[in-house]
Amino acid sequence: MSNKRALLMLSGGIDSVYVMYKALSEGRHLHVHHIHLRNREGRVDAEARAVRRVLAWMRRKGLTNFRYTESTVDYGSLRFLVKDFYTYALFIGMIMSDPKNRDMDSFLHPRHSDAFNLRNGKVSFEQAAERANAALTGIPSLMARREIKMELPIGSMTKADVIEACPPDLLRLAWFCRRPVKVGASFHQCNSCFTCAQVNESVYRRKVARV
Ligand SMILES: [Zn+2]
Repeated sequence: MSNKRALLMLSGGIDSVYVMYKALSEGRHLHVHHIHLRNREGRVDAEARAVRRVLAWMRRKGLTNFRYTESTVDYGSLRFLVKDFYTYALFIGMIMSDPKNRDMDSFLHPRHSDAFNLRNGKVSFEQAAERANAALTGIPSLMARREIKMELPIGSMTKADVIEACPPDLLRLAWFCRRPVKVGASFHQCNSCFTCAQVNESVYRRKVARV
């Protein structure tokens, strides 16, 4: 694995949170960026809260070798939402274009081996990955005018493997539902979106119950 500083787009979800923990634990120096994605799914506040708690957890554990930045994207009255990876690609490109970030030439992408929602059966994992990879490396490379590479630190792990490997107290802070239900000041998972379904089938509850 490279020792160079790398970029991580931290959504606040289990996968990116675990990748941050893994990379910092292995001595990697990171630039961590969170995008507050304002869209109709309404998960922006749940994710922002998760990110704040996760950053505080890392600092408490002495995992401080990172610089943190954030931005907000508001889709406004647009009804059609593109895949998140297109928005991520744009911001990876912006960050890599900064002359101060010329020491970085890669980003850590938190994709696990069962990452895509392929339930409609129209595309294979490889096709979905190829499309995402083309955007995630192509758009930043165009913008930064140098080759921006993608690292896949959890590419051979399943979602269940990631959950098993993540420290339970960190896992509890991560957010995973795409359509959270807000009740008063707290958020609840919807139990019906793709991510909820994938997480519920796994060892999540057993792990979190240990805390
Ligand atoms: Zn959900």
